Amino acid sequence: MSCIFCKIATQEIPAKVVYEDEKVIAFHDINPQAPYHILVIPKKHLSTLLELTEEDKELIGHIYLVINQIAKDLGFAERGYRVVVNCKEEAGQTVFHLHFHVLAGRGMGWPPG
Ligand code: 5GP
Ligand code: ZN
Repeated sequence: MSCIFCKIATQEIPAKVVYEDEKVIAFHDINPQAPYHILVIPKKHLSTLLELTEEDKELIGHIYLVINQIAKDLGFAERGYRVVVNCKEEAGQTVFHLHFHVLAGRGMGWPPG
């Protein structure tokens, strides 16, 4: 198993974890792009958004509820936050284990770069 996020999920590689349950783990991005930059990942290995199937519907709903909980716990729910998934190279994906970026703590531009 060479996937770096699978290794974070099994704690073979350390990360600053902010939330964990049986299905997902969330941790600080190693190269933050905002005052808060959290990555939320399913523990199950899925390379990209395109690998989702019907059986993952509940998992994805769960991830969004976890994101809301993290936003409240870390204190940026009220001001707002952005959730981003980069799907494949052209969108900027570099780690091929599905992850949801949660960015907060500064004003965000639109459109994104
Ligand atoms: P992507 O470009 O695939 O959407 O996002 C990958 C993210 O993972 C990047 O923001 C990058 O900084 C982060 N990242 C890559 N390797 C590690 C790591 O070993 N630990 C942590 N915490 N974040 C990582
Ligand atoms: Zn993986």
